[in-house]
Amino acid sequence: MAKVILPDEGSLEVTGKPLLDLLKERGLTGAAALHDGELRDLRDPLPEGGEVRVVTPKDPEGLEVLRHTASHVLAHAVRRLYPGAKLAIGPAIADGFYYDILFPQPVSREVLPAIEAEMRKVIKENLPIERVWLSREEARELLDSQGEKYKLELIAEISDDKISFYRQGEFIDLCRGPHLASTGQVKHFKLLDVAGAYWRGDPNRDMLTRVYGTAFPTEQALQEYLKWREEAKARDHRVLGPDLDLFSIQNEKIGAGLVLWHPKGAWVRHQIETFWKEEHYKAGYHLVYTPHIGRAHLWQQSGHLDFYKDGMYSPMDIEGQAFYLKPMNCPFHIAIYKTRTRSYRDLPIRLAELGTVYRFERSGVLHGLLRVRGFTQDDAHIICRPDQIEEEVQGCLDLALRILGAFGFTEFRVALSVRDPAHKEHYIGSDEMWEQAENSLVRALESKGLAYTRMEGEAVFYGPKIDVQVLDSLKRAWQLTTIQFDFNLPERFDMTYIGEDGREHRPYVVHRALLGSLERFFGILIEHYGGAFPVWLAPVQAVVLPVTDGEGEYAQRVAAELQAGGIRAEAWVGQKKTLGKMIREAQLAKIPYMLVCGAREAGQGAVALRLRTGQDLGPQSVEAVRDRILGAVYSKGAEL
Ligand SMILES: [Zn+2]
Ligand SMILES: [Zn+2]
Repeated sequence: MAKVILPDEGSLEVTGKPLLDLLKERGLTGAAALHDGELRDLRDPLPEGGEVRVVTPKDPEGLEVLRHTASHVLAHAVRRLYPGAKLAIGPAIADGFYYDILFPQPVSREVLPAIEAEMRKVIKENLPIERVWLSREEARELLDSQGEKYKLELIAEISDDKISFYRQGEFIDLCRGPHLASTGQVKHFKLLDVAGAYWRGDPNRDMLTRVYGTAFPTEQALQEYLKWREEAKARDHRVLGPDLDLFSIQNEKIGAGLVLWHPKGAWVRHQIETFWKEEHYKAGYHLVYTPHIGRAHLWQQSGHLDFYKDGMYSPMDIEGQAFYLKPMNCPFHIAIYKTRTRSYRDLPIRLAELGTVYRFERSGVLHGLLRVRGFTQDDAHIICRPDQIEEEVQGCLDLALRILGAFGFTEFRVALSVRDPAHKEHYIGSDEMWEQAENSLVRALESKGLAYTRMEGEAVFYGPKIDVQVLDSLKRAWQLTTIQFDFNLPERFDMTYIGEDGREHRPYVVHRALLGSLERFFGILIEHYGGAFPVWLAPVQAVVLPVTDGEGEYAQRVAAELQAGGIRAEAWVGQKKTLGKMIREAQLAKIPYMLVCGAREAGQGAVALRLRTGQDLGPQSVEAVRDRILGAVYSKGAEL
């Protein structure tokens, strides 16, 4: 006997009968059953006792079932069109689904419309989807007869006696489910792209074709997603970066995951860094600079060579001693702390550095500026007394929200990672330290009125932390800020301060980064603004455009005047282009202000002001334009 909650919110007590039949009798459809957080196929016998909720594709769990079913429809269609195709795996993913397939011949995006058309046929046939249980031997024979070498490899790893398959019409596929009741329930789908993917992610094995698609419960939701996807594509920093001449990554010449900041990108970075430093100074931090390499001994003492070696590059030999590129800045900041005896009155000490670190990432996971091998963290370490931690954490949050807000991020998602209370032995540090630290994080979040998710057991072994994600202009979430306690390094480096009692005490150490890394943050900013940076960040803030060569000299004078006022301005003189063409180019370069000077404006010491939005504001004095630009810089807002 189990209590079943139906999609129409009705409920009933049921024994025996599979839910799928029950729903059919009532003219309802569902995607799967949710029991104790576990997703079950509607064809399965009901569990004994407890409550079962029938989910539909409108629920997140049911959406996954819809998309996974769509991946089977995709595989079915591919089988019909390419009889020799071999199937690997076809899961639902965050935005849709994919299927990894070995096609008999190489394919490109061009084949997607034909596959979609065949999928539509499979859907129109509305084939019932049945679950079939086969013995190991039967499963092997079936897959062998179809030449499904990848699936054979998969069943060799399943230890159960009975292996689950799903059948729709002539197509049968190894699968643990769950699935919708029939192919006709997949209605609103789209194939999106193809990409290469190694079988099992192993570069030594077959290269398969990953066909990406998505499916939604309604046509409207599908169309909205497709529109959103187009917008995201238009903002891709890997395209805008080179287009706007901001940065490049040259795998062949320089090396994968290593970023070259071009002059325009470097100007944006300079603004970010300057603002960051000023805000840190105001918040009582001290700036430090530390080397890019350090002796093996240092990384031994910090524990990096024991616990973080996979993320570090091979050592280099300098006069017989091994040195490593730094993967983190912490040991250097601690070394600065330890150059003096510190008293309780000296604390807190806040050391901040835009510190460039190098970490090993497999080439397969590198991604534009978002995942690189060398990057600059906006790092800081706060060393403080136990009675100061709450105020320090609050200070970090204040600073983080202020800085992120200046970059136009105003929506946040906060997670608090604490230890697993059932497994305290997995963590170092005393109960008292954990409680103090966790409470200080909670109280700081509450005092800011920040909603947060408490993640039990998600803390790393050496301390609890707060993570802050921001939502960008397309509502995508990006992890930026981390405030992390560390009970490990103070022990390892024997950090102390002299207390009021004249005795040595152990300080608390908090690592924190607000933007994460400048490279990744820049990538996110490019996408957030679609390359149209607000005035204070724009690499070129104003361009002066002469209508004819006759106004060239005047244009240069205007640009020089703006530059003298602290504005990044250029005059496009002697370009041999029409005014219309220059305006289009300036718009494509997303330059906020265009100052047009014809003979009349030159005669009056004026310019005609155009904005990159296309707005034409007509003639203005150069002073008025300068003040307008400086006002926009000062406000750091989006207004031009
Ligand atoms: Zn499946
Ligand atoms: Zn650190």
